[in-house]
Amino acid sequence: MNQDILEIITQLREELRQHNYNYYVLDNVAISDYDFDIKLNKLQALEEQYPQYFDTTSPTQRVGGEITKNFRTITHENRMYSLDNSYSKEDLFDWEKRIQKNLGTENTEYTCELKYDGASINLSYKNGKLISAVTRGDGFKGDDVTANIKTIKSIPLQLKGQFLDSFEIRGEIILPLDGFNKMNEERIAVGEDPYRNPRNTASGSLKLQDSVEVAKRPLDCLLYHVVANKIPFETHFETLEKARKVGFKIPKAIKVCKSIDAVFEFINFWDTERHNLPYETDGIVIKVNNLHQQDELGFTEKAPRWAIAYKFKAEQESTVLNEITYQVGRTGAITPVANLGPVQLAGTTVKRASLHNADQIEKLDIRERDTVFVEKGGEIIPKVVGVDFSKRPSDSQPTQYATHCPDCETLLVRKEGDAKHYCPNEFGCPTQITGRIQHFISRKAMNIDGLGAETVELLFEEGLIYNYADLYDLRIEQIIPLERMAEKSAQNIVDGIELSKKVPFEKVLFALGIRFVGETVAKKLAKHYKSIDKMMVASFEDLTNVDEIGDRIAQSIVDFSNDLSNIQLIDRLRNYGLQLEMSAEFQANQTDKLQGKIFVVSGVFHQMSRNELKKAIEDNGGKVSSSISKKTSYIVAGDNMGPSKRTKAESLEIPIITEGDFIEMIT
Ligand code: AMP
Ligand code: ZN
Repeated sequence: MNQDILEIITQLREELRQHNYNYYVLDNVAISDYDFDIKLNKLQALEEQYPQYFDTTSPTQRVGGEITKNFRTITHENRMYSLDNSYSKEDLFDWEKRIQKNLGTENTEYTCELKYDGASINLSYKNGKLISAVTRGDGFKGDDVTANIKTIKSIPLQLKGQFLDSFEIRGEIILPLDGFNKMNEERIAVGEDPYRNPRNTASGSLKLQDSVEVAKRPLDCLLYHVVANKIPFETHFETLEKARKVGFKIPKAIKVCKSIDAVFEFINFWDTERHNLPYETDGIVIKVNNLHQQDELGFTEKAPRWAIAYKFKAEQESTVLNEITYQVGRTGAITPVANLGPVQLAGTTVKRASLHNADQIEKLDIRERDTVFVEKGGEIIPKVVGVDFSKRPSDSQPTQYATHCPDCETLLVRKEGDAKHYCPNEFGCPTQITGRIQHFISRKAMNIDGLGAETVELLFEEGLIYNYADLYDLRIEQIIPLERMAEKSAQNIVDGIELSKKVPFEKVLFALGIRFVGETVAKKLAKHYKSIDKMMVASFEDLTNVDEIGDRIAQSIVDFSNDLSNIQLIDRLRNYGLQLEMSAEFQANQTDKLQGKIFVVSGVFHQMSRNELKKAIEDNGGKVSSSISKKTSYIVAGDNMGPSKRTKAESLEIPIITEGDFIEMIT
């Protein structure tokens, strides 16, 4: 009997592993999320019921949950070396000459691989199972980040076939650009500074204490090197091919080259083509392909003799920095901006670049009228990376960082631990005032139709509004006299404002523009506290106990709630009739029935409107998405569902359900 159970468990694990491999390593889909979840849930249930069959490499172990307060230091069994660099074809010819002399033969061939720009990692396997994952550290010792690494789904916890009994495999933990940009969009939306680059973000992710947080980040792992006592293959290339077969993600851009000329063709091709890759690379790594030759060549103090990196020239140009100006955001944060003489960089004209903060300017000693180097790393905002001191004007003076707000002249403050200066004049600084109102009316917040960013500025300049509550006092006769304002537009504005009184509480909460409270956080808070009053009296501790609310968000809410002007504003909003609590109907209808499920709604419905349907999904804890992907759990199809949607759903094997099926699901 128990033998049968074990067989079922083993079979489920194997199936799920294969699906993970297809999806995360091969980029193929063979199963819908729905079917995957069913199998995973079944496995989870069996593992709970039969704890004797627990296995650290089970696919159920990928969701995270382990907290690491201090990462254990582990000595590498085999040192992790760095690489020597080369920058030209001549450098490569010199390298070839050295190794051929060393080997006493001209019979050498090379593999060329991309140099992935991330955080290096060493994975140890024994008998087909992942044993540990350790960061590079100083090359001799690194940190044990196994719990975090397990959440990266392209890393096999259990190999798919016979490879070596005991070995290490090395690679790079990367954050693909798409995922990186998405993370940054979310940060910017809540007024946080964006992450600087994918590499640092990837390596920072490995050291997060909560592996559940790591699981949420779209990290990936590209592997490039197997280390073992004895490798039963002839070449590096063959070893990687075999490793790919047993489940490792080894990028396909590897080429065996018989000469440095051929190596250079590879380099030239990827120097431009790399911009089309989903992740960042900073060069090419050239390795002697034959493993016996590698052994013979061995290592220097720092690096293998059998490998060399070729660094791409970063896309860098020099130009004149005309002026440093300062920008205020709606939260009061000051950003210094370099206004540059226009320069072509990676296909676009660059005129401005962020200088980040005062420390950065001081560190690089950047001054007005300097000739500076501007770089575009990957697809991200251009940055000033240095100064051409040879061109500095003789009468140049060190930059005095702004002491006062460029907009309201208030003395700037800088809190301890904060990289940025702030304008503390929250309620008097024009940019902060209009910025907050513009955020309030925006589509994802109060969605006030007819009222645009410029009109807000106009209304403010005319002295008609100072805060978002003032919007509700506006009368049409006050708006019509504004420049270029037609009566109809004025009416639209008034109507839009009136209509916004019906906007549900969670959106109002987001609209208030509390620092660090973005859309998702606002939803969480609204659902938890159910009214603004309960949230505003909540203590710091109480706030941090809410799912996904950390210290920083909690503190920001406490600060907001203790401010007398905010309390008065909220009172006014209440008197105008805005929704400051979850509707009774909402509160009665909330369930978790669809927790974790993602729906796409398509077609025409009969029993509910499309919007009612979407609301029902969210009320029951599900999510609505507008496009079908591998992640979609169900498609609720009405009449006339688009044929292309249907084809896509069928090819991804996503269950298509009717309105009736859906209603049954939630009742
Ligand atoms: P550097 O950090 O510039 O000294 O470059 C050495 C690092 O490049 C190694 O420690 C690896 O982490 C990384 N690297 C990225 N891609 C590769 C690759 N294909 N082969 C070897 N090392 C690589
Ligand atoms: Zn100001």
